[in-house]
Amino acid sequence: MNLDKRFASALMPNYGVPPLALSHGQGCRVWDTDGREYLDLIAGIAVSALGHAHPAIVEAVTRQVGAIAHTSNLYMHEREIELAERLLTLIGADGRVFFANSGAEANEAALKLVRRRQGPGRPVVVAAERSFHGRTMGSLAITGKASIREPFGPFGLDVRFVPFGDVDALRAAVAGGPGQFSAAGGDCGAVVVEPCLGESGVIPAPDGYLRAARGICDETGALLVVDEIQSGIGRTGAWFMCQREGVLPDVLTLAKGLGGGLPIGACVGLGECGDAFAKGDHGSTFGGNPVACAAALAVLDTIERDGLLASVTAVGERLAAGISATTHPLLSGVRGAGLWLAAVLTSDVAVAVEASARQAGFLVNAVQPDAIRLAPPLILTAAEAGEFLSALPGILDGAA
Ligand SMILES: *Cc1c(COP(=O)(O)O)cnc(C)c1O
Repeated sequence: MNLDKRFASALMPNYGVPPLALSHGQGCRVWDTDGREYLDLIAGIAVSALGHAHPAIVEAVTRQVGAIAHTSNLYMHEREIELAERLLTLIGADGRVFFANSGAEANEAALKLVRRRQGPGRPVVVAAERSFHGRTMGSLAITGKASIREPFGPFGLDVRFVPFGDVDALRAAVAGGPGQFSAAGGDCGAVVVEPCLGESGVIPAPDGYLRAARGICDETGALLVVDEIQSGIGRTGAWFMCQREGVLPDVLTLAKGLGGGLPIGACVGLGECGDAFAKGDHGSTFGGNPVACAAALAVLDTIERDGLLASVTAVGERLAAGISATTHPLLSGVRGAGLWLAAVLTSDVAVAVEASARQAGFLVNAVQPDAIRLAPPLILTAAEAGEFLSALPGILDGAA
């Protein structure tokens, strides 16, 4: 039986049947099970930061799995401590780290941290419309996309949604709900925000929005939780996107690119938020797994050693400029930062563009009906970006 049929009969239908089965990869290239080669411009949804089969990750993971693959939280291991120290150094602030296995789990830890720190008197979380924070019941409760959230409510969490990027709406929502305005911040425990909406189509916050959110939180005592699960670890050319505005959150959540393809998430509590959890307050059997931590350290080392932040900025600018310079009736523009872009289309043809790109040997993602997301490995070269730009007019013709 072919893989399509076996997938459909053995796996739950929540993803539908994907169009390709991948067998292996090397650098920014992947091959499907029929031996066709593709330039990977989506990197497993901004995950494979160093591309595929990068020697630094292969070596680190191989060495670690041969030494000890799992300790549980009953025992320490050095890689986890080292990774926490490294992350705090990159953030540039004092704090403490909790390791999880995914983005949703990192956000769940953040929600519990907020509850622990703010107590039951400030139960409200303010989150953005069109945001995405994960699929578990807590992270889904704060996800601003009604079509994926509402079928699973009610949730045990009091959430106030505000239009993304609107400072006045944020201030009003943090100060209080209808009829319960309080200048002191009343019932709002935290604001949770992405610096750039990922799943809604790579939509950066307006300049100054994060800084304004920081100010509102400072005035009212709400905690600022910044979800950098997709934007962090060099994706935009900065280690963390909030650093581009000089904003230090109270809680920062990370996952996707951190492990370079190995599953790991992190909830970083900064300042006093690092001390929010007492012994016994939270945990994870696999969180901080030595193999995942070794992979993450290899990712951070390689980004640093190979100057990838500068490369992400330069290659990203080249890619964005090339898309923006492409004139085609289906293409209206480009948005995003670093190697995290959306090619914006003039109508709802993203699925056809994705399929046409695949035919032409490029993996991209129809993130919205009218937007194609590019989130390639951070090691993408200018020449590889050029390959896609040369092919783009033909890809768009193929979708028309
Ligand atoms: C992907 C993503 C998540 C969820 O991460 P999972 O690992 O899929 O649970 C949360 N927040 C943002 C911003 C994301 O992009």
